[in-house]
Amino acid sequence: MRERRPIERRCSKISCEQTAQHTLTYVYADQEVVIGPLAVQAEPHSYDLCAPHATALTAPQGWQVVRYRPEPDFY
Ligand SMILES: [Zn+2]
Repeated sequence: MRERRPIERRCSKISCEQTAQHTLTYVYADQEVVIGPLAVQAEPHSYDLCAPHATALTAPQGWQVVRYRPEPDFY
């Protein structure tokens, strides 16, 4: 007997228990941190983040943050 559950992933920040709503990916070649909608599958160099953490994210020095806005109320 298996329960069918919607995909739910947690924010990857330590001590944060919110549901992830965005996936952050480090693109090393371009030194970009890309924040987009939650990815369907987990990929290497990507982290799931809740909305507040995605919004508050800052890039490491020398990197830039690229935000995709699939929804009008992304911010
Ligand atoms: Zn969080």
